[in-house]
Amino acid sequence: MQPIINHLVQLQELIIARAQQEAGMPGAQLDQLDESIAALTKELPASVSTQFTRLLQKSPLAIVPVVNGVCTACGMALPISLVHEVHAAERICQCPSCARLLFYRESGARNTRKSPRRTDPPKVGIERFSAESLMIPELKGTDRDSIVAELCQKLEDEGFVDNAQKLVEAALQREAIISTAVENGLAFPHVRCIEGGALTLAMGITPKAVKFDPAGKAVTRIIFFMVIPTAASAFYLKLLSGLSQVFQKEENRTKLLEADTPEKLWKALVKTTRLAIQ
Ligand SMILES: [Zn+2]
Repeated sequence: MQPIINHLVQLQELIIARAQQEAGMPGAQLDQLDESIAALTKELPASVSTQFTRLLQKSPLAIVPVVNGVCTACGMALPISLVHEVHAAERICQCPSCARLLFYRESGARNTRKSPRRTDPPKVGIERFSAESLMIPELKGTDRDSIVAELCQKLEDEGFVDNAQKLVEAALQREAIISTAVENGLAFPHVRCIEGGALTLAMGITPKAVKFDPAGKAVTRIIFFMVIPTAASAFYLKLLSGLSQVFQKEENRTKLLEADTPEKLWKALVKTTRLAIQ
């Protein structure tokens, strides 16, 4: 069963990459992704393909990792015997609570963000996902890999994730499927299935335009890096679409590009996204 499970996981990644591409880049060329999705779907046994498609109609996630004995989509603690079966991968297992297909994953980087204290004022908009400490107004990196490493290190240094190196590896694997650089100098690199906390966003600006997509034409200056828990995958697509809409507008991009301190960059981000991100 392992080859079929690997196949499903790969197919799931392509389907999510397609949704991300659509949310982040209106008018995106999706032909190449559509072709890969159709080709992979055709190779599946018919019964698996039907089951997978039916699950996808309910939510963008049909197959999800089990991490620390928990279904990462619905949060149910699974019976130990089922966790063993998922690990053995001799058949395709389903979550008894949400019915999604399950696969075993070694734990990668984890979100270690501290929970807010009860006395903290409630947060709104982008403040729920990010912080002034995660703003880099002048990135040092001059190519994709060094910029991703810088943003991941920031997340680790500020106590939001536990392992920058694992995060970098996962983010670059995602870039290999299809670049997250889009028009207007924006890029949205990210890592999904980072459990243990809320969706978290770090942002950096490059002093000069860089070719974030080594194979593409677009040049990038504003990089939004996100770590996304499995259960927030659908919400993430909404957030991506909101950010993409706000920063299609040149005046909003200019506000970010003009900021020369983390404090000013954070204020500009909060202000420009106030209406679009609730
Ligand atoms: Zn579940």
